[in-house]
Amino acid sequence: MDLKADFRSDTLTRPTLGMLDAMHSAKTGDDVFAEDLTTEDFQQRCAQMFGHEAALFCPSGTMTNQIAINVHVQPGDEVVCDRMSHIYNYEGGGIARNSGASVRLLRGDHGRFKWEDVAAEINPSDSHYARTSLVSLEDTCNRGGGSVWKLSDIQSIREGCDASTLPLHLDGARCWNAMVARAGDVLPSAEDWQTYGRLFDSISVCFSKGLGAPVGSVLIGSKDFIAKAHRSRKVFGGGMRQIGVLTAACNYALNNELPRLHEDHKRAKQIGNVLIELSRVVAVDPVETNIVIFEIADGLTAAEFVKTATQDGILCFAFGPQRVRMVVHRDLNQAQVDATCEALSRSVLNH
Ligand SMILES: *Cc1c(COP(=O)(O)O)cnc(C)c1O
Repeated sequence: MDLKADFRSDTLTRPTLGMLDAMHSAKTGDDVFAEDLTTEDFQQRCAQMFGHEAALFCPSGTMTNQIAINVHVQPGDEVVCDRMSHIYNYEGGGIARNSGASVRLLRGDHGRFKWEDVAAEINPSDSHYARTSLVSLEDTCNRGGGSVWKLSDIQSIREGCDASTLPLHLDGARCWNAMVARAGDVLPSAEDWQTYGRLFDSISVCFSKGLGAPVGSVLIGSKDFIAKAHRSRKVFGGGMRQIGVLTAACNYALNNELPRLHEDHKRAKQIGNVLIELSRVVAVDPVETNIVIFEIADGLTAAEFVKTATQDGILCFAFGPQRVRMVVHRDLNQAQVDATCEALSRSVLNH
């Protein structure tokens, strides 16, 4: 058996020759001196794309999210987000550790909630309670199976936040996938990106997931917000020097990788359709983008399945005692996905 297909994460992609070439020829300077023109241009491009004034490049999506929270909240405040959110589950308790804030968790549908859910959790302005000072949502939601938000739901959350003078943050690590899926698996228009971006006060986007860059996330917002974010980035140790080599890779990804994301979605659906037919798979979360999460019947654990799948050449991730995550990405081709589907049908999941 010579299948080797790694579905553990879309962060596994390696830079292509075209991307390495873009990195090699990037003009650079010291970014702490604001002299890295490749980075200045790229930040401006990201801000404009999402209909905002300014942007700031950071080494990770954890840093962009944590900086956003740090700017929006004061110690003792509370952040409202879904219980599945990355900012709560996978950032090392950073909301408390970096910003001294607490979290109010919502129980949404695959990580998606409604304004009514938020409204019910906003504390009264009374000194007994923590001050509710930020709402954050994740599109697509990773733990929710790459779930895509309805634009109308985000719009009503925006209106509610306006009425309650609450800022709204987007963890848009995979907003690329969400936007492409919402557009019907075609490229969204320039206007679509701006309309979406303007629904939020701050936006974190990642280039190191489906877009395939080796490093890089960008935080987007108003000039005033980004000026404050700049200070937090420095304090968090994220001031960097000749990062034009990195932002050139991200810029290349935006030009060359965004147009192919719909292929990942098609392949993820193909895998989901195979899985749901297997005798020991009890459920597959709706496959909306590049993530497939499925649940195995009692009698076989996710950890046991991951072990045998690895022997079959399929690498994936236990996402709970009975849940497994598979993520489709650029470094998996159609032949590998076809072979994976065949191997899954012959695997322990069907016996
Ligand atoms: C990957 C990811 C991040 C950021 O992760 P880093 O590894 O720190 O870049 C943030 N939010 C979501 C939903 C993610 O999937």
